[in-house]
Amino acid sequence: MVMATSTKRVIALFDVDGTLSVPRRGADQPTLDFLQELRKFIKVGIVGGSDLKKISEQLGAAATQEYDYLFAENGLVAYAEDLDIPIKRGTFIEFRNGMLNISPIGRNCSQQERDEFEIFDRTAGIRKAMVAAMQERFKDFGLTFSIGGQISFDAFPTGWDKTYCLQFIDKDFDDIHFFGDKTFVGGNDHEIFESPRTIGHTVNSPIDTLQQCKQLFIDSAV
Ligand SMILES: [Mg+2]
Repeated sequence: MVMATSTKRVIALFDVDGTLSVPRRGADQPTLDFLQELRKFIKVGIVGGSDLKKISEQLGAAATQEYDYLFAENGLVAYAEDLDIPIKRGTFIEFRNGMLNISPIGRNCSQQERDEFEIFDRTAGIRKAMVAAMQERFKDFGLTFSIGGQISFDAFPTGWDKTYCLQFIDKDFDDIHFFGDKTFVGGNDHEIFESPRTIGHTVNSPIDTLQQCKQLFIDSAV
């Protein structure tokens, strides 16, 4: 279905956390090797929500040279008091470039607490409820809220989501594929996944990402 070997100009864009790596951890070597293999067939771009330093830690120090495109911090505010959650650890709001990152549990929690919160939040829906309340409270501010990672969500001016990067590659490619794990409404991959300019793919792990890419871009090319 994808004419990777034709003259069609194809690029695959990848989210990082949950798509190429276990959240916040480094991507494993087979994944990194696969991405370089994939570059023999199509162009490969990274569209991470965090800053360049974090992405470089996850994908290797040479990440900026090893991919055709690397977009960092694609991606502004609220409250973390009176929340009925089991653990609170401080640093509830972190100012990043162009946005605010808000964590109900607090970014100072341990990795184990982080993992536990993610599981807890799947049923408790704390982040979804906070986003819904803020959307209502700040509806006239032109803000977009999006849930990413394990313990937080972001608030930023509408349009500063991952679709922001598309303007830089729009004219250079016929097909722009996007792979992400948080493609649901309110997830930080949702806008770019839904964009009419991309062909969106939902993945549930790095292994799933590799399998889908292999099928789409490599198997169909031989
Ligand atoms: Mg993700």
